[in-house]
Amino acid sequence: MAERPATPPTVTTPMAATDPEIKQITAELHARQRFVISSHSRPDGDSIGSQLAMAFGLRALGKHVTVVNLDPAAQQFMAFPGVRDINVAPAVDGDFDAAIVMECSDYARTGVTGLDRYFTINIDHHPGNSRYGQINWFDSSAAACAEMVFDLVQALGVPLSIEVATHVYVAILTDTGSFHFSNLSPRTFDICRQLLEAGIDPVRIARQVYDSASLGRLKLCGAIMTGMTVDSSGQIAVLYVDRPMVRAAGATYDDTESVINQPLTVKELQAVVFFKQTDGDEYRVSMRSKGEVDVGIVAKEFGGGGHKNAAGCTVRGHIDELRQMFVARVTRAIDGRPDRR
Ligand code: 5GP
Ligand code: MN
Repeated sequence: MAERPATPPTVTTPMAATDPEIKQITAELHARQRFVISSHSRPDGDSIGSQLAMAFGLRALGKHVTVVNLDPAAQQFMAFPGVRDINVAPAVDGDFDAAIVMECSDYARTGVTGLDRYFTINIDHHPGNSRYGQINWFDSSAAACAEMVFDLVQALGVPLSIEVATHVYVAILTDTGSFHFSNLSPRTFDICRQLLEAGIDPVRIARQVYDSASLGRLKLCGAIMTGMTVDSSGQIAVLYVDRPMVRAAGATYDDTESVINQPLTVKELQAVVFFKQTDGDEYRVSMRSKGEVDVGIVAKEFGGGGHKNAAGCTVRGHIDELRQMFVARVTRAIDGRPDRR
């Protein structure tokens, strides 16, 4: 066994509480009383976790907080504190002193109208944020938006409650693809250490997030995998799902959420493109990749966005042509990665 160093290594804190944005945001949060918090449509674990960590942090200060999203949280998140109380609505018009928008490159990404009427605090970790708020804070080095929220809540001076800690952990766990993606940093693990010290149960949380699915989901997963194709290079997997497949399996569209990660368990596969039919010839496209293969660039070319290893967009067209087009673009991303140049 390796000997322990006499002094523990210093943990890097790229988002220390001395950051000017954190100072500015905490001042505004202390000065205001009523908040509305929104995030992107079809909220993921980082959306929900960031929003509710922020909400519980602010409520600990006696603030009034309403969380509003266009779409409900996926079933596996419902068991976590406060998730059932999230308002699902296409517009906000309440009496709020400020809006906090998380994880969104622009207002449109929320799908919720009316947010732009409030003093807006924009918190995001996706590259390409359009600085639409009165305060704009983004840090693309954060593995999850909730890493930023963690710092913010600490800076507010409220104790790290089990509710805040649970939501920050749910966000980090899901947004890193269970600690698989390349945006992990020492900071990520330092935060997780503090979350464990605050009393969260990572095993229970992982079971709730990943092992509480329905039989329909497993059957749908089987159908999607059966239809999987691999490109001629053997590096890109393409998945497809449409409404009849979902119906036949007795599943829901939400059940397709994490299926995309399966092909990357195969050593040779470097990227996955997943087409989900929404309406006629319209498809939601989700992409995942390993290491330096940047699918974020591909998503951006098609009007979407995301990160290097996880991105998405919405496109229209004939499915066969779309398949060819995306495989060609992802091939370029594989060939163009820095270690191949
Ligand atoms: P997913 O494949 O899970 O829908 O999305 C993966 C990542 O890409 C997430 O970080 C998500 O925010 C981002 N993303 C997905 N679709 C879009 C889109 O249409 N526009 C933008 N800007 N980002 C997206
Ligand atoms: Mn995120």
